[in-house]
Amino acid sequence: MTKINWDESAELDKLAELSIKTGVALQPGQDLLITAPLEAAPLVRRLAYHAYREGAKIITPLYTDPEVVLARYRYAPKDSFEKATNWLFDGMAVAFDNNTARLAVVGEDPMLLSEQDPENVSKANKAVSIASSPLRERITRFDVNWNIIAWPGTHWAKRVFPKMSEDEAQLALADAIFNASRVKVADPIQAWKIHNNNLRERTEWLNAKNFEALHFYTDGTDLTVGLADDHEWMGGASIARNGITCNPNIPSEEVFTTPYASKVNGHVKSTKPLSHQGTLIEDISVVFKDGVIIEAKASKGEEVFLKLLDTDEGARRLGEVALVPHGSPISQSNLLFYNTLFDENAACHIALGQCYSKCFKNGGELSSDEVIKRGGNSSMIHVDWMIGSEAMNIDGINNDGNITPVFRNGDWA
Ligand code: ZN
Ligand code: ZN
Repeated sequence: MTKINWDESAELDKLAELSIKTGVALQPGQDLLITAPLEAAPLVRRLAYHAYREGAKIITPLYTDPEVVLARYRYAPKDSFEKATNWLFDGMAVAFDNNTARLAVVGEDPMLLSEQDPENVSKANKAVSIASSPLRERITRFDVNWNIIAWPGTHWAKRVFPKMSEDEAQLALADAIFNASRVKVADPIQAWKIHNNNLRERTEWLNAKNFEALHFYTDGTDLTVGLADDHEWMGGASIARNGITCNPNIPSEEVFTTPYASKVNGHVKSTKPLSHQGTLIEDISVVFKDGVIIEAKASKGEEVFLKLLDTDEGARRLGEVALVPHGSPISQSNLLFYNTLFDENAACHIALGQCYSKCFKNGGELSSDEVIKRGGNSSMIHVDWMIGSEAMNIDGINNDGNITPVFRNGDWA
């Protein structure tokens, strides 16, 4: 097994080109901010090449180094975990106000912090949540065009393919990423046009139905999720407030909207582990009453999950509900990626916390008060976890009580 020569990987280059042209949809004259793990430099360099060829003005990569993160947990003073780099987030917010496009490359070890003190992990997470609120506001409001893609990080690859050598695992993860991102075809940009059209057909159908609630039911689940007033379903390509049509997630298989934060009732279990900022949370089981989680447990990572729920008022309520057929390529790969970008596209999911104000009619124009009045949730967190399976049934319920099958046995009815 030889090391991968990324400079010669046609698929890596196709992913970079797809990300710039279809994902970010970078416009001539725009600046671009790229966040990425250090290891992803070969991809970031391909991104810079394509972005400058598209007419980018200034591209700024911000790299994170997992070793430096770990060093903090090992050696930094105990009382320092309540601090975050506010100046950095404030600066990024200024960049977005100046129409800088955003690109995030993920690829970190999902278990990076699993052996660190959960107290420090949750303190640091909370500090970042607070400090990054100007940033989150702009992203949930969808101010600028943005895109997330993945790099096959070696530690991440070993989690997904634990029996393989590091090089083999990285190659296998790269293959899975390229497959899920639809770049293993002659013309990925055309493939995404077709995919976006398919997703638009689904959202148009759901928007025309204008359901008042969705009822999810299987053996372990009986959950009714009320939908926000004036909610709108979204998926695939969408238009940012700066007028640019981009594809925020690559890959993406979901159609999603905003639940009514006080109209969620019943019980639901997670169907895949949730990898949350370095901790794996497994077998989540919660009970909702009038929108609020009143009972919660998990077989692993329960402490971190309960702390997450206590982040703020809105952390116990839903901010997103998303539909993904069991037949999606990511689901069919039968891999657990331990990464939300992939796992959320393998199954129907819900998200705790902040809603997307974009998922409303005229969403871009609504103030946060107007979003809340329509049933939208507000929180410092937005955490997706999977509830879908091949057994999932979903009914759409209209305000006259009329019931429409939406999903049967994990796929569109
Ligand atoms: Zn989602
Ligand atoms: Zn989400």
